[in-house]
Amino acid sequence: MAICLHALVQSEGNTEMIRHAKRYGLALGAVMSLLAPAATSAQTSEPAAGVSLDLATARAKNISHLRYELALSIPSTRAQPVTGANVLRFQLADPTNALVIDFDADGASTATVTANGVVVPTHAVNGHLVIPPARLRRGENAVRIDFRAGDAPLNRSDDLLYTWFVPANARRAIPCFDQPDLKGRWTVSLEHPAKWQSVANGAERDRRTVGDRVRVRFQPTQPLPTYVMAFVVGDMKVETATRGGRTMRMFHRESDAAKLARNRDALFDLHAQSLDALERYTGIAYPFGKFDFVLIPAFQPGAMEHPGNIAYNAESVLLDESATQEELLTRAHVIAHETAHMWFGNLVTMRWFDDVWTKEVFANFIADKVIVPQFPQVRHDLQFFLAHYWSAYSADRSTGANPIRQPLDNLADAGSVYGVIVYEKSPVVMRQLEALLGEEAFRDGVRDYLRRHAYGNATWDDLIAALAGRTKLDLRHWSRMWVDEPGRPVIRTVLEVNDGRVQRLALQQHDPWKRDRLWPQQLRVTLGCGGRPRRIVVDLIGREVDLTRSLEGCVPDYVLAGGEGWGYGEFELDDRSQVHLQTQLPAIVDPLERGVAWSALWDAMLAGRLAPSRWYDMAMPNLRGERDAQLIGEWVYDLNIVWWRFLTPAQRAERAPDLEALLRSRLDAAPEAGLKSTWFAALRNVATTSQTVAWLRTLWQREATIPGLPLVENDETALALALTLRGVEGEQGLLDAQRDRITDPDRKARFEFVRGAVTADAAERERWFRALADPANRRREVWVLQGLRLLNDPLRAEQSAALVPKALEMLLEVHRTGALFFDANWVQEVLHGHSLPEVAAAVTRFIDRLPPDYPPRLREKVLQSSDLLLRAAQIRAH
Ligand SMILES: [Zn+2]
Repeated sequence: MAICLHALVQSEGNTEMIRHAKRYGLALGAVMSLLAPAATSAQTSEPAAGVSLDLATARAKNISHLRYELALSIPSTRAQPVTGANVLRFQLADPTNALVIDFDADGASTATVTANGVVVPTHAVNGHLVIPPARLRRGENAVRIDFRAGDAPLNRSDDLLYTWFVPANARRAIPCFDQPDLKGRWTVSLEHPAKWQSVANGAERDRRTVGDRVRVRFQPTQPLPTYVMAFVVGDMKVETATRGGRTMRMFHRESDAAKLARNRDALFDLHAQSLDALERYTGIAYPFGKFDFVLIPAFQPGAMEHPGNIAYNAESVLLDESATQEELLTRAHVIAHETAHMWFGNLVTMRWFDDVWTKEVFANFIADKVIVPQFPQVRHDLQFFLAHYWSAYSADRSTGANPIRQPLDNLADAGSVYGVIVYEKSPVVMRQLEALLGEEAFRDGVRDYLRRHAYGNATWDDLIAALAGRTKLDLRHWSRMWVDEPGRPVIRTVLEVNDGRVQRLALQQHDPWKRDRLWPQQLRVTLGCGGRPRRIVVDLIGREVDLTRSLEGCVPDYVLAGGEGWGYGEFELDDRSQVHLQTQLPAIVDPLERGVAWSALWDAMLAGRLAPSRWYDMAMPNLRGERDAQLIGEWVYDLNIVWWRFLTPAQRAERAPDLEALLRSRLDAAPEAGLKSTWFAALRNVATTSQTVAWLRTLWQREATIPGLPLVENDETALALALTLRGVEGEQGLLDAQRDRITDPDRKARFEFVRGAVTADAAERERWFRALADPANRRREVWVLQGLRLLNDPLRAEQSAALVPKALEMLLEVHRTGALFFDANWVQEVLHGHSLPEVAAAVTRFIDRLPPDYPPRLREKVLQSSDLLLRAAQIRAH
């Protein structure tokens, strides 16, 4: 599936409706009596809420040749329901059991069901329609359902409707078999206001306008699982372009013509390059006919890989003039990721969502390859390290770490399988796998896998089977620790030097959770030997490996066991290396090596082996001298965390003038707008001195400028919010003025929503938060997340502390009613600015008191999101 990882990490994303099925319809007794004559299998007993593995397995065996004919009528206002009919045509191997169709629409949706031409009474139970076997036959069947659609997964606003059905939310809108291994050909027809545009997976076949309404019919699709079936209807504009003989369309709502013009060609080019690269890598032509994409404002995830009509979060692909290199890389990566999904996920789909990582890993791993020629100036091995390891470690170092592959009994819980481990740890594992096989053998195995399962489904075991014949290694055994176990090893360097001679150099691994696990892996150890680093390849299979003899006389200043950003684990430096790197890191020539050394020091700080103030002292010369744009992005990101969460207020006050001066000088000296943008954001985020805050205000008032960095609407919005957080005078007038400056209606509405979370009036902020108890006020999930981030900004953390327990309490309800990622992002944003011991204690209390039936993966999300808070509070308490 396709949520860009970046979306997840940056909390721009969230997904699906995991709403516990409501029990409605006939009483159980009535259903059972109806089913009684044929009550011989699991399928005929009352189907559980959601989509259980049992139900899905039974249906996949019984149903084949599935086609859907979906016709919907979309009214011109959100107040009126979407209505329509879906005809399900399929073959049954065994018609003797009742047929369970998924339909769990919100509200009092009614449905009329006709099975093979005969109206059958509607029997609804636990979010399913149950068709009695008396109306079914062996071979071809047709079931027609006339219904009122559920609104939640249709994401309706007054002039836009977009579907987002992943992982199993199609059933909340329309009746269907909502499981990934029942792929159907969809023939869709949409009837809507004639002034609106519409786009679906299939190409447009014809349209007929009657008065102010139009009916658009689309061509039948290739076999698609429900979770990528998609359409968008509403007030949109359309751009068309042809690249390499392929005509593509871009649907959007952007009102800033200059912004659109600046991004338009790049978006078409990036898609064309990605398609070419994927066709070359897989040896298979693009499998889904026409190719369009849709830019949706405040789309919950970064993007979603709907075949034929990929959806993007508009804000993450329509970039400003001063876009940073990281933003450009991220955009290219997201586009390559979604395009890769056309083969990995859409052409070959996981059988069940426990293997959802198999499509995400390929999407990310292949996207890493696709963007290499697009950014020749970028160090892609460093990019891989920064993009994947940092995020994966954030989860894997926490007590809430989860394995890559997680068992799943019911698709109602599929949303909580997703997370940074699925997106970011899996490419690290896949790169190791590719290295074990060799690039060519790996690619050939992947091609076999795609050809063998095209338009069908496959599992992780199927992939292993396709690769296994190409190596002597036992891949299943190798992958067990990496795929089925959570966490990471601690890999400790033992370096004993006496009288200027190395007595011993060894690497030891241990399981930080004391479960005695060992992670087999290859390491590329870097030895700092007199200014000329040496690299040795080491297989760390057991507990320890001795490297003393590999030194060949070198007495290293430092040893980096995680060298080349290759090994995965917490790399515990020996004392000699740590002392050396604390002062000499900027002298390391290779940027990747600097990144690896920085990462080890970061882990040392989080583990309590390096005081935050010492870490800060280490970081300053790096911030002053670093030239690599990728590293600068990471340095300032980490600085922000240490600044607000690990240093004490007194430590900050003492250091603020120097830090601000440093950031200001780097801003002034930066050679181009993207880099200036990075430094400016860093300064804005840490600014506290009256001098800098006053300067920020003059920028917002357009009384000052930054040479070489044009400040556009988004910058001014960020400035207005930052100034409000800093308690400047006349904040209401400032916020009003900023609202008036925003011309785009979607962005204006968002600003109006979030300003309540940032106002200086604590009572008003609390009202804003308490209003979120009403699900209607949580509907615009991206807006809510931004508001929560502002509400819990470090500058407001003390005042918001009292709201944290309530926000945690609400998490289960948020999990039940929100889309994919909303729960994880909710807790992430609530906790992101906090470091006070009492907040840490409240989180611990909350976790300790969770009832036994609390969803275990939701508990993990809380533990992952609270990791920095708990560490910061512990360090500050000492
Ligand atoms: Zn994806």
